[in-house]
Amino acid sequence: MPARLLDGVAVADAIRAEVRPMVEAFTTRAGRPPGLGLVLVGADPASALYVTSKLKSAAETGLRADLERLPATASIADLLRVVDRLNRSDAHDGILVQSPLPEAMGPDAERRVFDALSPDKDVDGFHPINVGRLVQNRQALVACTPAGIIELLERSTIPIAGARAVVIGRSDIVGKPMALLLLHRHATVTICHSRTVDLPQLAREADILVAALGRPAFVTAAFVKPGATVVDVGTTRVDDRATIERLFAPGSKRRAAFERRGSLVLGDVHPAVEQVAGALTPVPGGVGPLTIAMLLRNTLAAAIQRAGGAGGTGRAGGAG
Ligand code: NAP
Repeated sequence: MPARLLDGVAVADAIRAEVRPMVEAFTTRAGRPPGLGLVLVGADPASALYVTSKLKSAAETGLRADLERLPATASIADLLRVVDRLNRSDAHDGILVQSPLPEAMGPDAERRVFDALSPDKDVDGFHPINVGRLVQNRQALVACTPAGIIELLERSTIPIAGARAVVIGRSDIVGKPMALLLLHRHATVTICHSRTVDLPQLAREADILVAALGRPAFVTAAFVKPGATVVDVGTTRVDDRATIERLFAPGSKRRAAFERRGSLVLGDVHPAVEQVAGALTPVPGGVGPLTIAMLLRNTLAAAIQRAGGAGGTGRAGGAG
């Protein structure tokens, strides 16, 4: 039997529907909407597209969202000045600097930006203070993608407490916070990476397998215990026809989409996994939509917190 598909679009819609009246209530109380400052450096088309959908989604939910654009030639000092201005702005509760930054800014540019953000406006949850709070399972702004995955699992009634969870990928933005959130919900967690020995065998132990590598179709059926829940975080744009023809049958929806567009965004999970897993997040329509919904929720939480009100995100782990 094919896996049950976990519908990220529906869960993201539900989260936005919960956030909207709370934004309205905040706006009435504070005399201003929660505010988000988005910073885009350069003209990378994918980044511009992400920023546009964040702006649109924020506006639809009643938030104020302002875009600060810097040219690709901007220096890290220019960027840090914008961050400093947004840190001091009363109208902005959240700040998001779109990744990736131009290479010319240097290898440690992203880290310098995260360090410069005011932790109470760090709606991406990347500042060391928020990461530390997450480690200690205290109230924190938590990275949007892993936080969204937890929402998807919980709202899809996938049991986490007591489950064996395997997270493939150890990045600061997905793998590590994902593992911590699962741990705080009482899963027994293994984190895997490029040096892990016998990855398929380890992955097969998982009741919940999270693939966050950025390697299209890497996780094959051999990685998956029958009936396991598989979360596919990967998003890699592929325009190589041979790869698409190897993965998708002629006449399939995905093949047709490739013929129309000339490329496809692929996840890290091989299509054959659908026949083994019990539940699976599709790409597109699984994890992706949740990231923006959680950004809106984090901005609202930051606004409430900054206004000194009750609310916020609760403890990072949430579970008792
Ligand atoms: P990243 O920083 O490149 O990290 C990738 C991780 O995968 C690293 O820890 C790396 O191990 C591991 N890895 C790479 N090749 C591997 C292999 N052959 N075997 C085992 N582990 C391997 O990527 P990221 O930022 O975490 O993103 C991961 C994917 O998620 C990307 O496709 C990204 O586009 C996607 N993503 C999607 C969303 C969304 O909203 N849907 C949000 C964020 C990210 P090492 O540490 O040993 O190098």
